[in-house]
Amino acid sequence: MSFAISQTSLTARSSSAFTSSVRVNRATRMASRHSSSSSKVSLVTKCEGPTAKNLEIMRKFSEQYARSSGTKFCMDKSVTAVVIQGLAEHKDTLGSPLCPCRHYDDKEAEVKAGFWNCPCIPMRERKECHCMLFLTDDNDFAGDDSTITIEEINEAIEDM
Ligand code: SF4
Repeated sequence: MSFAISQTSLTARSSSAFTSSVRVNRATRMASRHSSSSSKVSLVTKCEGPTAKNLEIMRKFSEQYARSSGTKFCMDKSVTAVVIQGLAEHKDTLGSPLCPCRHYDDKEAEVKAGFWNCPCIPMRERKECHCMLFLTDDNDFAGDDSTITIEEINEAIEDM
């Protein structure tokens, strides 16, 4: 199964302000192959990068929630890495891990509403993660485990 995705096809923007958007877009492109709801998915973050503290918090959260929900990470860990990165950036800027794979007109209002704070309601109720962070066993992109190291995350981020 190939994960080759052209970076140039993801976005024409090259400004560093949109670097995070490019990263998350990679994950959402993959998600769009699998999820019919992904047509609503778009890009979100404009941060320069998350703090190490929140990156580690969201890494641990993701591992723990995957275990407790019986889901797996994507077989391509770079997808997992960019979603965790996006969650950490939102935790930095908003104080909550708002889903990084969606467009919001008002992020602060969305945080207060709570629907898209990770784990979002679709994930909690139906195990539907359109970011492809938490995948059920029947998902073609599900890997074998639900672990990722901070080194794997940083490596994936640097490669973007
Ligand atoms: S569980 Fe929901 S909020 Fe968390 S990454 Fe997946 S889609 Fe986004």
